[in-house]
Formats: sequence, structure tokens, C-alpha cells
Amino acid sequence: MDTVQIRAQLEDKLKELEQRSAQAERHASHRDEGLSADFAEQAVERENDEVLSAIADESEQEALQIRQTLTRMDKGLYGICSGCGEAITPARLAAIPYTSQCVDCAE
Ligand SMILES: [Zn+2]
Repeated sequence: MDTVQIRAQLEDKLKELEQRSAQAERHASHRDEGLSADFAEQAVERENDEVLSAIADESEQEALQIRQTLTRMDKGLYGICSGCGEAITPARLAAIPYTSQCVDCAE
């Protein structure tokens, strides 16, 4: 399988995710420095912090999966299910390029 293009895509995506997660974390920690005196405002800010940290967590999870996929690619294992060792269908890889499991194993 030609993975050059997929690797480039994944590396782009990884950079994007790392930026997004760093940004979300920066915003969240910035807000910790001084909560508004207004109680209602505080509630909104806390809620935003939760959203931001959820975004950061999600981005980190996805980034982790992409890093693992790049490692598997290095080993020539890209597109092979880590569960059963069968080939992952091209349609699934097109939908989720960083998946490491076939549809059956992912369920
Ligand atoms: Zn499988």
C-alpha cells in the first residue's frame, strides 16, 4: 500500500490536533488566574473550562492514535488490524485513516 500520502495527511492532522489542544489548555489555564466576581459569570467560565478541557482531551486522544498509526506505518503494519491481523477495508481506512482495527474488532 502506498502510504506516503496518508502519512502526510496524518502528520498534518497531528499538528492541527496538537495546536488545538495546546490552545484549549492555554485558554483554560488563563481563565484560572482570575474568575469573575459575578457568580453567574463564574458559572459560565467554569462551564467553558470544562468544554475547553474536553476539547484538549479529545485532541490528545486523537493525536495519540495518530502517533500510534505512524509507528505502525514505520513497521509496515499500516492497514492491518491489530486485533485479528486481517486487512482493514479501504473504505474504513478512508473514513478513519488512523484506525488500527477492522470493523469487526472495533465493535
Ligand atoms: Zn480485526
